[in-house]
Amino acid sequence: MDNRKDRELGMGQGITRRDFLNGVALTAAAAMLPSHLLAAADMQATREQSPDYYPPALTGLRGSHPGSFDAAHSLRDGTFWEKAGTPIDSGESYDLVVVGGGISGLSAAHFFRKVAGPKARVLILDNHDDFGGHAKRNEFSAPARTVLGYGGTFSIESPAPYSSVAKSLIRELGIGVASYSKYVDENLYRSFGLSPKIFFDQETFGADRLVINPMKRLSGESEDSPEGAAVLKKFLQEAPFSDQAKADYERLVTEQKDYLFGLNSDEKKARLARMSYNSFLSDVVGVSPEVVKLFQARPQPSFGIGFDAVSAQDAWGAGEPGFTGMHLDPAPGKGMNRDAIPNQEADKYFFHFPDGNASIARLLVRKLIPQAMPGHSSTDIVTARANYAMLDQEKSPVRIRLNSTAVRVKHQGDPASARGVEIAYARGGKVCTVQAAHCILACWHVVIPHICEQLPDKQKEALSSAAKVPLLYTNVALRNWKAFQKVGASSIYAPSCYHSHMNLDLPVSIGGYACSQKPDEPIVVHMMKTPCKPGRPAREQHLLGRVELFNTTFETIERNIREQFARAVGPGGFDPANDITAITVNRWPHGYAYQYNSLWDKFWLEGGETPCEVARQPFGRIAIANADAGAYAYTDCAIDHAYRAVGEITNKVPKN
Ligand SMILES: Cc1cc2nc3c(=O)[nH]c(=O)nc-3n(C[C@H](O)[C@H](O)[C@H](O)COP(=O)(O)OP(=O)(O)OC[C@H]3O[C@@H](n4cnc5c(N)ncnc54)[C@H](O)[C@@H]3O)c2cc1C
Repeated sequence: MDNRKDRELGMGQGITRRDFLNGVALTAAAAMLPSHLLAAADMQATREQSPDYYPPALTGLRGSHPGSFDAAHSLRDGTFWEKAGTPIDSGESYDLVVVGGGISGLSAAHFFRKVAGPKARVLILDNHDDFGGHAKRNEFSAPARTVLGYGGTFSIESPAPYSSVAKSLIRELGIGVASYSKYVDENLYRSFGLSPKIFFDQETFGADRLVINPMKRLSGESEDSPEGAAVLKKFLQEAPFSDQAKADYERLVTEQKDYLFGLNSDEKKARLARMSYNSFLSDVVGVSPEVVKLFQARPQPSFGIGFDAVSAQDAWGAGEPGFTGMHLDPAPGKGMNRDAIPNQEADKYFFHFPDGNASIARLLVRKLIPQAMPGHSSTDIVTARANYAMLDQEKSPVRIRLNSTAVRVKHQGDPASARGVEIAYARGGKVCTVQAAHCILACWHVVIPHICEQLPDKQKEALSSAAKVPLLYTNVALRNWKAFQKVGASSIYAPSCYHSHMNLDLPVSIGGYACSQKPDEPIVVHMMKTPCKPGRPAREQHLLGRVELFNTTFETIERNIREQFARAVGPGGFDPANDITAITVNRWPHGYAYQYNSLWDKFWLEGGETPCEVARQPFGRIAIANADAGAYAYTDCAIDHAYRAVGEITNKVPKN
């Protein structure tokens, strides 16, 4: 890319995107360690007490931001303790220490207080500079007002119905899921002539072209595409497909053929569970490679991988074409990924806040530390400004300590009879210890074997297998969406681009917050990428993708974003050098909890104990929560396993 092209894309423009450099300075200090850097630790505390400490408004590289993972990676590499020196005893003791300030950790603290009482002393440690785990809030200062985006967890939704525990917590937080239709303007984009589109790129399909999207909505996509014969006809006219590919696509979506004639429904499902949807399309239906390429990235928003690594049975469950003539019994087949099992009751339980489920995390913080989160309702939470200086106050029974990575969790003596647990954590260049009667590990399971060496080997192995799905959730703030209106796009599926999905923000106005209502108003465009390596087993793709995300600079991601905007909506007059006002890339190398899959996890298809059941066993005074405990990448899972973990350490059922 030459300098002139960079200038046209606006690479040098003074948008808000590089605030993260402050974080880098602290990271460098933390990497130096040990005790002579006490000054760095003090600097950390002072910084968090400042009224300017407000992570949701930071832009640039967020999610697992620079500085959040150094201590954990150093532990993994076996270099941490040689640099750390002897931990300093803080003299603090708690009834419960929770490792991980995501929705599971915050819920665990909430449930624990129901059993132990409001005076119980609880400390929550998290390695990020903000609470909420994956449920993160992004704020942008647009001219005259603040525009919100979700940095991770998008909404209250789950392929299976929420449990009574999870529903009851949502109710207790005051969220009226049934009232969602009051807040969302479902017709907004349609009323301006916008609809879902597909962007075909030149490198893959021979021409850059934005075309009407005739495909059914998949889980993870925000809007239905218009359906019907006229839309199909228009798509086939516009798509830069060969004649053969056009004929194949039409046949795939209209033909009602039994492609596995002669087998009964169970036999067909067993066959489909063992082949990828890509193989089904090319080898069984016999469509051309262009059609396979079009479908490839469709499952990425929910599965984190493409159709090369998702089974045909899961594609059937998700509603992809090719199965209408196959007489499959609608009951879920053996080995289906839980994301692929349709459930109408679950579909109805949906609620999206403008900052996603960060609002749930913020409502939980309000319950735990009221002085840190002003307001009283689940609607005023949307505009409430958190007071981060209140999170870790000595007088408060509940404290949230950010920028703090737990590095060692061990019983004081024999786990079977110990009276307490000692937790060591790294923060701002020093390592401190605190004592606790109990500890709940609500952090990522892959971390646990490195911080809790006392665990049995079999359990450590199971914990280590919960490697997460990597993704980018990118928010791009725009001056307006006039170019989107001109090209008629409310969302763009771009199967072969850097980000495979881009959507105008879901139009939700709630409390004092109003979404963008006219094309000349500022808006956030949400983009998603999963760094897949098609053709390899799922876990290998995730591992390589994780490495890619850690090694990609913000500059590279920014250039890709600008180029994608220029190509997809440039024909509508979009000027990336002028129309982009801020970029926040939420980088999640450890993203979704890994969900079992019939192509790659034999036990899931054939039965037997699952690794997550082995991984989540309590151990002395330590219990294990997090969505990894259910191998299910949803908020309700994080809540359910917090509830279970609290029950295990207290031997009581928290009242909910
Ligand atoms: C991008 C994205 C989008 C999603 N969208 C949805 C959605 O729309 N709906 C939905 O229901 N679910 C969604 N999910 C899944 C959902 O976010 C999670 O299931 C849920 O929020 C997980 O909560 P948790 O507390 O279990 O884990 P996390 O949110 O991951 O929190 C765990 C925390 O522990 C911290 N930690 C790890 N190690 C340590 C350590 N050693 N010391 C201190 N802290 C540590 C982590 O950094 C993290 O902050 C999404 C997930 C991602 C990644």
